[in-house]
Amino acid sequence: MFATLSDRLTSTFKNLRTKGRLSEADIDATVREIRRALLDADVAVPVVREFTGTVRERALSAEVSGALNPAQQVVKIVNEELVSILGGESRPLTFAKTAPTVIMLAGLQGAGKTTLAGKLALSLKEQGHTPLLVAADLQRPNAVTQLKVVGERAGAPVYAPHPGVAGEDEVPTGDPVAVARAGVETARSRQHDVVIIDTAGRLGVDAELMQQAADIRDATSPDEILFVIDAMIGQDAVATAQAFADGVAFTGVVLSKLDGDARGGAALSVARVTGRPILFASTGEKLTDFEPFHPDRMASRILDMGDVLTLIEQAEKAFDADQTEAMAAKMASGTDFTLSDFLVQMQQMRSMGSMKKMLGMLPGMGQMREALENFDEREVDRVEAIIRSMTPAERDNPKIINGSRRARIARGSGVTTTDVNQLLERFAGAQKMMRQMARGGGMAVPGMGNL
Ligand code: GDP
Repeated sequence: MFATLSDRLTSTFKNLRTKGRLSEADIDATVREIRRALLDADVAVPVVREFTGTVRERALSAEVSGALNPAQQVVKIVNEELVSILGGESRPLTFAKTAPTVIMLAGLQGAGKTTLAGKLALSLKEQGHTPLLVAADLQRPNAVTQLKVVGERAGAPVYAPHPGVAGEDEVPTGDPVAVARAGVETARSRQHDVVIIDTAGRLGVDAELMQQAADIRDATSPDEILFVIDAMIGQDAVATAQAFADGVAFTGVVLSKLDGDARGGAALSVARVTGRPILFASTGEKLTDFEPFHPDRMASRILDMGDVLTLIEQAEKAFDADQTEAMAAKMASGTDFTLSDFLVQMQQMRSMGSMKKMLGMLPGMGQMREALENFDEREVDRVEAIIRSMTPAERDNPKIINGSRRARIARGSGVTTTDVNQLLERFAGAQKMMRQMARGGGMAVPGMGNL
């Protein structure tokens, strides 16, 4: 996500750091580089102009010239201005005072609306809500089926017309506005507290599509209209966003496909251009690839200052509190951390999502991007397979793993004895480090770092 932009901005700042005082020429050169980096990332021209104008003005002002470390001050300004164009404060979903809360999704075809419907439903369910999905996309032949699939995965029921059948629910067929209206009624009568309406998208903005979306809006009075936009669409983002802002007056934006290595300018333009906040980011095809959007955290990621907060939140979701506490106690004692504990840890790490994605949120990781790109998730599979091939006694006391046991474990996990030896060596090293940490009272980050 924003890899190129991030690299370019950080290298611009690196040049700046070698300087003591900053001349006007230094600042102009920096601003020029920032402008080029943003334009190359497909950020909309007016946004770039405003951004660089403000950065230049602030960088030339007393707040920088009087600062102890002018270069750092410039980075701080760029960070603050990035947060500002990304929308400033983060904003959660608005819920209706009387249920059901109606959330309508709008956007071009392929933007990621249907996938988002599933992601939202899953996330709302985790928060104790009882969402109902409504299939008001009757344009694309597959859309209803697709919504049913994501609904099933999210564990949320789907209200959909049955084409050609006088439906069991007497769902009106063919007319998306009637389906949406009936969907909200159904949610009310069946006491779902949230309704998510998936609407049709076209490949390009067209008047008929916009009218249909506006009609669905008028028929259902949504509490939120979320405009879903593919972060990869480049310079078209602004025109598309503007058309939807005018056509359906959306209340918030969802950026999808932020996992792509695209230039991502849409992300950096829509909030400022439309004046609507970005509520969520979609970062993959799985229903769990979904996060609330925080402008400050996103700016930190772009400037490679890391997004430790999101990382911690995901860890909290993935880690069982009791297990984590027990593990921390074990780590503190340092003595009886075993391969079984290691396996549990690894599974917890795994449930946090892809290692690559996680590592990418750590500060300074931009420098290690290449290493990250080469990080092989299969290595984790291999380690897991090796530990699984051990008996409980071996896991608790690796010292008993002699030559013939090593050969058996290697056979059982489909690796070579050298692989088994390597793992055991690394584990012994990790164990030693834990003991030292326990003595030094340091806090251990549970994980693979020592693998
Ligand atoms: P819709 O036409 O707006 O309903 O879009 P879909 O939800 O059908 O998504 C279009 C395609 O994009 C599908 O293949 C999805 O799996 C994929 N997709 C959706 N969201 C994301 C995302 O955040 N990341 C990636 N990589 N793919 C996504």
